[in-house]
Parts: sequence; structure tokens; C-alpha cells
Amino acid sequence: MARLEGKVALVTGGASVPGLGSTTAVRFAQEGARVYLTDRDLDGAEKVAAGIRASGGHAVALHQDVTSEADWDRVMAAIDEAEGRLDVLVNNAGIAVLGMMDTVSTADWQRQIDVNLTSVFQGARRAMAMMRRAGDDGKARGGSIINISSVAGLIGVPGCASYAASKGGVRLLTKVVALEGASDGIRCNSVHPGMIATNIQGVALEDNAANYDATMALIPMGYMGAPDDIANMNLFLASDEARYITGAEMVVDGGMTA
Ligand code: NAD
Repeated sequence: MARLEGKVALVTGGASVPGLGSTTAVRFAQEGARVYLTDRDLDGAEKVAAGIRASGGHAVALHQDVTSEADWDRVMAAIDEAEGRLDVLVNNAGIAVLGMMDTVSTADWQRQIDVNLTSVFQGARRAMAMMRRAGDDGKARGGSIINISSVAGLIGVPGCASYAASKGGVRLLTKVVALEGASDGIRCNSVHPGMIATNIQGVALEDNAANYDATMALIPMGYMGAPDDIANMNLFLASDEARYITGAEMVVDGGMTA
């Protein structure tokens, strides 16, 4: 049996290709999940969903700005109406606004926190409410919430003040959700990618071209990871194979933080 057969999954930030959200949505669909992928870029999300459907999977693209509470309500209501359940939420949408302490603007700081951290709070609390609903056996159905943090949520990185603060917040928010959800079978874990070859990383490296070689030297394995390295971790956490794992920090970084 496919690893996510019968499960309904929502992946935010699913439009970017190559991106961690789109790659995760594809892997989930390959393993039998009914996938909802959202993004502020609806055209991009539609393309990813169409590709999944062309390969025989189930995928629906929806517009969502993860900083909008109204959008969260609309997306959850759409999934509820179509499926009546939600088994997996991947809070993946994110941005990387770089800047040293003396240059980062307050507006950029706030935007980073809104997109990367407050969105996770909004998504997780709504997912918990759906996952707490009773299944056929009268008990809470449970589910898996996967929050994409970063190595910058584990260790300090110069020039990443707002990004690191947002991702460190995601790390601890994850543990609170794990503790509050555990008795209802709701698992919540954070995933901490290192340097993964996606659009966000291209932008970050272009902005810091002088740091490229130095950054590579920080990766003991000597190369950037691929989106599938994260998608496979997300797949594991979404599946019942990870049924006893909650509140954990899953580091996928080629040894950067070892
Ligand atoms: P990406 O830029 O390729 O994709 C991010 C997606 O999020 C895009 O499709 C974008 O449109 C969407 N998005 C941004 N703001 C949004 C908003 N307000 N509402 C809805 N969608 C929005 O980036 P990625 O590398 O795929 O990153 C995915 C996640 O992984 C992010 O949270 C990022 O911080 C994290 N991460 C990535 C790396 C890496 O090396 N790629 C490392 C650590 C953490």
C-alpha cells in the first residue's frame, strides 16, 4: 500500500519549481495522498497540480497568502467541504529577507515574522481543530503537522536576524503544538533544511555572491542538498512510519550543524 493512501494533505508555498513545497506535493501524491497545494502565485501552483494530475495523482491548487487569516479560513473551509478531513499540514511557505542588524528595516523584520512565523501559528491552530474531530471510532482522528524551519532556526547566522528569529520561533512553536496535540494523536515536528538548491537559495546566494565559497565550506558533505532530500523527510513525517515522533527537530543539512 502507498505510504499516504487515504490521507488528505495541505502544502503551503507549493508553486515554486524547484521548491520544497512543490517537490513535497509531488512526493505526497506519488504515495497516494489527496494533495491541496496553495501559494500566493496561483498560476504556478496550478501548473504543479496539473503535473501531478497528469501523472495520475490527485492535486488541487488554491490561492493563499499565508499572512491572511481570511485566506486560511477559506482554504480550510474548501478542504473541509471537499474532503471532510485533514491529515497532514506542511507549513512550507516562506521568504528570506537578509540584512545585518544595523541595516535590516523594521518593515522587513515584521514582514519576515508575518510570512514565516505567524502563518505557522494560523495554519497549525486551524489544522489542530480539524484533526481533533472524531473519526469512525469516536476518538480524535489525529494527524501530522510539519513546520519547515531552517538550520537558521538552530544556530546563529550573521545577516539573518529576522529570518533566524522567525525560524527559531517556528522551532519552539512546533514543540508547543506537539505537547498540546499529543493526547489527540496530533504530531508536530520541525524540519531544518541546510542549503537546498531551490529558488529561495538562488536569491540568497546571489545577494551574497562573495559568501558563496565560504558558505559551501560550511557544508561538511561539500554540496547543496536537493529538494527531494526535504520532500522525503516530509513524506516520512507525514506517514504512519513516524507515528511515535513528535516535537522533534529533523535536521537535513549535510552536516552543517553537526
Ligand atoms: P522558494 O522561494 O523556492 O518557495 C517558497 C514559496 O513560498 C514560493 O512559491 C512563494 O511564492 C511562496 N510564498 C512566499 N510568501 C508567501 C505568502 N505570503 N503566501 C503564500 N505563499 C508564499 O523557497 P524554498 O527553498 O522552496 O523554501 C521553502 C521553505 O523552506 C521556506 O520556508 C524556507 O524558509 C525553507 N528553507 C529553505 C532552505 C533552502 O535551502 N532552500 C533552507 C532552509 C529553510
